[in-house]
Amino acid sequence: MPLLLVLLFLVCHGLVLAAGAGTAGTGSFGFLIAAPLLAAGCCLWRARRDAAALGWCAIAVAMLLWSGGMALNLIDALAAGRTDLTPRASMLLYVLYAVPLVFILARARSERTSISLIDATLAALLGVLFFVHTGFFADRVDVDDAALDNMRYMFDIQNLCIAVFSIVRWLAADTAEWRSLFRALALYAVGYLLAAGYINHFSSEDSFGAYNDLLIDLPFLILAWLAVRSVRASSFAPSPRLSRLVQAGGPMILPLLLLVIGTLVVDHARALAVTGFVVATLGFGLRSMLLQIGLLEHQAALDQLARQDGLTGVANRRQFDAVLQSEWSRACRSGGGLGLLLVDIDHFKAFNDAHGHPAGDRCLQIVAACLQANVRRAGDCLARYGGEEFAVIVPEAGLDDMATLAETLRLAVAALALPEGPVSISIGVGFLQPSNTRDARQLLADADAALYAAKHAGRNRVCVGTAQLPQQPVHAPPPVGAA
Ligand code: GH3
Ligand code: MG
Ligand code: MG
Repeated sequence: MPLLLVLLFLVCHGLVLAAGAGTAGTGSFGFLIAAPLLAAGCCLWRARRDAAALGWCAIAVAMLLWSGGMALNLIDALAAGRTDLTPRASMLLYVLYAVPLVFILARARSERTSISLIDATLAALLGVLFFVHTGFFADRVDVDDAALDNMRYMFDIQNLCIAVFSIVRWLAADTAEWRSLFRALALYAVGYLLAAGYINHFSSEDSFGAYNDLLIDLPFLILAWLAVRSVRASSFAPSPRLSRLVQAGGPMILPLLLLVIGTLVVDHARALAVTGFVVATLGFGLRSMLLQIGLLEHQAALDQLARQDGLTGVANRRQFDAVLQSEWSRACRSGGGLGLLLVDIDHFKAFNDAHGHPAGDRCLQIVAACLQANVRRAGDCLARYGGEEFAVIVPEAGLDDMATLAETLRLAVAALALPEGPVSISIGVGFLQPSNTRDARQLLADADAALYAAKHAGRNRVCVGTAQLPQQPVHAPPPVGAA
């Protein structure tokens, strides 16, 4: 259906041209203004329902600017060259049209607002420099034969940059939405490059109102058509290396273009050129700094996640293994003792069966918070060792301290007022004098054997099992109702 509308648009435009061929053809302007407006409307429609909304909005803004430029051309045609202002203003709009496109092409997929603002500033300044440069040639068209060609070349370069960058972004896009956006932009940009190049360099017609106008419609209609097409899942996956290269290298586009255009205008707009150089350098530096800060924050958050148990927030098994190893080595060097508590919730399977898994998860969180609140020494490390098992590494503590701590934890958990009723824990205490001839696994085995003994002896109790001491319950409490 949209394809039919595209054809209908072209046929109507063709008929209007046929009817008015050979005249100033102001009727054709209506179609040349409507085509980008139609593309803008379709892009905005797409932006409301697409993950690449910012990209579609940027293209829509570009289309509106282009359409504005054409509207000024129409005013100029109606005024029959009596005003000097409209050609210059329309040229400004054609130059500005590229700014949102370059902005979105240079941008990584998601950036913080401050970085986007820097990019937007660089893109806007690029537009100003480009306008000043093309304006310089426009002013000299009457006295310099090469000026018109230079102006055309500038627009060719603008169109070529947009087409090439869009194709690269299309090939490197790593999500279906952004691939679809850049594909639409690339096909539009290539079409526009060819149409504008042909009309500027090879066409004998030098004003609007000829059949050439149909060529100008085409890229806008293609864009409108692509914008309303739904995203198709495709098996194409870009090389991750290319994707990363483009994401990371894309932001260099803006400062690089600023430096190039700044160099071109340095002879006739020195102050502006210097501003371009300074803003390009500072903008890119500031952008890199903000990006680096973001990456460091991200890295810190990832480090934290890698060490933390997702459900309870205490250290996870990976962190437990690392801390146990480092405390073991430290104890070997210092000659001190190293203690380990293995804590296991009693009858937890029955708890889950009776109250459901979500309640079991909440119970694990509450028990972990309770244990953490009672493991107060700075060097002690509480970790989730397995499903409903926790471990506490206790460096530089005596056996009595360990037993006291274990009993404190047991009593604290038993005193918890859970909506599902009381829960209890069993604790195995391991205590060893580390040495280079043994390893930390012996401490774990020691604590595990003690935990097994505590379970065997009836649960809800603390058992000490050391290599030195025989396994013995140190606290045999009055029974606490198990779930
Ligand atoms: P015991 O007193 O002998 O320790 O008995 P138990 O039922 O606690 O021990 P068992 O090893 O038979 O069962 C442990 C249960 O812990 C089984 C499993 O469903 C539950 N569990 C493990 N991880 C999680 C978790 O992340 N969330 C929930 N809700 N349950 C878990
Ligand atoms: Mg268990
Ligand atoms: Mg258990």
